[in-house]
Amino acid sequence: MNDSSPNGRSSARPQVVMASANPDKVAEIALLMHDVFDILPRPAEIPDVVEDADTLEGNARLKAVAISDATSMPAIADDTGLEIDHLDGAPGVHTARFAGENATYADNVAKTLAVLRGVPEAERTARFRTVALLRYPDGSELLSHGVVEGRISLHIAGDSGFGYDPIFIPNETRNLTFAQMDPITKQAISHRGRAFRGLRNLLQ
Ligand code: IMP
Repeated sequence: MNDSSPNGRSSARPQVVMASANPDKVAEIALLMHDVFDILPRPAEIPDVVEDADTLEGNARLKAVAISDATSMPAIADDTGLEIDHLDGAPGVHTARFAGENATYADNVAKTLAVLRGVPEAERTARFRTVALLRYPDGSELLSHGVVEGRISLHIAGDSGFGYDPIFIPNETRNLTFAQMDPITKQAISHRGRAFRGLRNLLQ
């Protein structure tokens, strides 16, 4: 819904269509951008995009172009990867399917803890990286990167958030995983928060 200001003049926000299909990411993006855009849901009839680019930026663009082309409207996309130093930056672009093609969040978390079993805390450094991309129907785009440095915990902790949140401890909080924070606290320091705040700056 668009806002109307008290003096009766319209303060309509531009409409954009969400290109991400992941409801957890959609909720976080909405929290970050709802005051800037009127965000329309991803049309259900548009088939899932095969994310086969070899960079986060490439995958974000694939998702945004598919939705922008299909709707003739601006589309907003997010692509995110977890880079674990002990694994030479893996899973990276393969983060969603680290434990296999149809892996659940729990499968991916279990696999991560298994491959890092016995690795000491100091060597469990990792980062989340997000590319936020706004694509217009004329082919122009705005793009912003966000990174949060941290480490993979020894054990699962917390039940907030999604994905790898129960095993990722950002440097800013020392010992709390993202899953032990409320959404506002996570957004203040997260990869996604940083990427989308960067996008807001580009829009101004
Ligand atoms: P994609 O950007 O849709 O390819 O998602 C990559 C995968 O990264 C998701 O399936 C989640 O498992 C994970 N992921 C993305 N964002 C977050 C986050 O903020 N916290 C934890 N895991 C995340």
